[in-house]
Amino acid sequence: MTLTIIGVSSFFAVLTMLVQLIWNYQESIDKTTADIREYSESILPSIAKSLWDVDHGLLSDLLSGLGMMPMVASVNLESTDGVAMQLGPSIHSNERRQTLFTYPIMYQEQQIGVLTVGLDTDKLYYELWQQLIFIVLGNGLKTLLMIYLILTLVRLLVTNRLSALERFANQINLNALPKLTVPDSVVKSPDEIGHVAHSLQAMYQRIRNDLAFNKRQQRALQQQQSQLSRLVDERTRELNWQSQASQLLAEISLAFLKVDILKIDETLAHACQKIGQQFDVERVSIVEFQQRQVKYRSIWSCEPIRDEIHSVSEDNVALLTQKFEQESTLIIEDVDALRLLSPVEYELIRGIGICSIAAFAIKNADEIVGLLSLSMTSRPLNWTPQKKVMLTQFATALNELMLREEKERQMLNLQQALVSVNSQLLVMAETDELTGLSNRRPFTQTLETLLQHDNAIGLLMLDIDYFKSYNDTYGHIEGDVVLRRVAQNLKQCEVLPANALIARIGGEEFAIIVEQVTSIQLEAMANQLCYQVAELNIPHMGSPKGKITLSIGGVYVAKDAFNGMTISGLLRRADICLYRAKERGRNTVVIESSKQAAK
Ligand code: GH3
Ligand code: MG
Ligand code: MG
Repeated sequence: MTLTIIGVSSFFAVLTMLVQLIWNYQESIDKTTADIREYSESILPSIAKSLWDVDHGLLSDLLSGLGMMPMVASVNLESTDGVAMQLGPSIHSNERRQTLFTYPIMYQEQQIGVLTVGLDTDKLYYELWQQLIFIVLGNGLKTLLMIYLILTLVRLLVTNRLSALERFANQINLNALPKLTVPDSVVKSPDEIGHVAHSLQAMYQRIRNDLAFNKRQQRALQQQQSQLSRLVDERTRELNWQSQASQLLAEISLAFLKVDILKIDETLAHACQKIGQQFDVERVSIVEFQQRQVKYRSIWSCEPIRDEIHSVSEDNVALLTQKFEQESTLIIEDVDALRLLSPVEYELIRGIGICSIAAFAIKNADEIVGLLSLSMTSRPLNWTPQKKVMLTQFATALNELMLREEKERQMLNLQQALVSVNSQLLVMAETDELTGLSNRRPFTQTLETLLQHDNAIGLLMLDIDYFKSYNDTYGHIEGDVVLRRVAQNLKQCEVLPANALIARIGGEEFAIIVEQVTSIQLEAMANQLCYQVAELNIPHMGSPKGKITLSIGGVYVAKDAFNGMTISGLLRRADICLYRAKERGRNTVVIESSKQAAK
């Protein structure tokens, strides 16, 4: 700017000087010319007269007077009749540059000569040059003074304030956005710079505000983004958890479907452990309500439980039971809340180390049959509605399992009852009602089976002597008593092996099958039986012995004597022997060896 001011000022100064110079030059020429013309014209009549009169002296004076005028370099007079006068150098001389002015000399309206005045151009230029020096000096000083004044004013009014503005602008840092102000002296001045400064400051303030607003928005956006990403993470975690829990529910439900009811406790323990790990709790238990008792069916704990947990009476948890009946779900995040409400229940729950609990009813129709309970011993439960929904489904699966268990248990009981009845029926079908001995059916079957093997067997047929007479004398009821006593005595006989089959095969007839026996052993057994019954000393007035006795007919079949033998054949042989024993006077034994056995 300074250079511009200096340049423009100098340009105008030079221009002014040139104009002045040209002006001075023109004025000087005009003035000189006018002076010369005025003087020449004033003396022209005198020159004409003196020339006419040929008055050379006067003429010479006149011309000398003209020649003495400043700037006149030469004067030349030429008359028409050949008189010529020259003052100064010739007008045609090249020595000096001259500007020539020619005047005709008229006398009595007749031209008598020509007066030529030469103006000294060099002198004129010299004078102009001298003037130029003054002009240059004068104007130069003026210009310098002007420039100094202008520059001072510019510095005072513009540069200082622009510098303040520049400093203000240089301090602007869009990253830090410091609080900046343009000095009041600059802003408040009511000129253009003041307006610009004001606008600049306002603009900076707007930028600051806008950037601050943008930063706020950016921060809010970042906050929203981080919230959103937290939300997405949380939701993803929830979904993952939900998917794992659903998978676990499916696994447990499937296991419940497939489980053998006899191994149900193992499956429940596994389910408790899995639920505990999935729901991040310290203890999971499944309890059943049975006959007003709350019984632990299964329990899992992440740490060993110090004290054994016993079943409790339903009456001791009346408040909790009542709450359950209303809602099916019971969540106590802090067990201490129960302290005043129900001290008994509080003591009970705290007694097993629980500080936070969530329990879900296992219901059969409207009846609560048990609970699935998740509890914490060291910290509160981390509870969500999502967990509540999932656990309700686990409780439903448990309910179905328990229902199935109940049904299968009933079915099992029914089956066992049927088996028992069947076996009773079987026993009844094979047992003689009166004596408790085997009846004819197992007797025949055993005989049939033994006949298929090639082992030695002995068959004894026993018949009470004169029994009809006994009945007649003592009555049937007493007769039955005798039958039972004899049967009892047969069973208690020590000589008979444990696997000997004793059967009642008719009214007062018994049969005994003995395996892997010799004929001697068989005979000894028969004799012992005969003796034992007689030794019972049951009075029988109708018998010659005066007491109840037996007759025994027996058949012994040796190991290699089975070929082609039938049951009826065997029985017939035994019958024959029995008949012989009767014939021999009763209370006796007749045994026949199978070596002679009939076919
Ligand atoms: P023996 O010495 O020849 O055998 O003479 P016995 O009188 O025993 O003759 P028999 O074998 O013909 O008689 C069988 C009797 O047994 C007939 C019947 O009154 C009696 N009896 C059959 N079954 C029962 C029964 O279940 N209870 C009672 N009290 N008596 C029976
Ligand atoms: Mg008989
Ligand atoms: Mg008889």
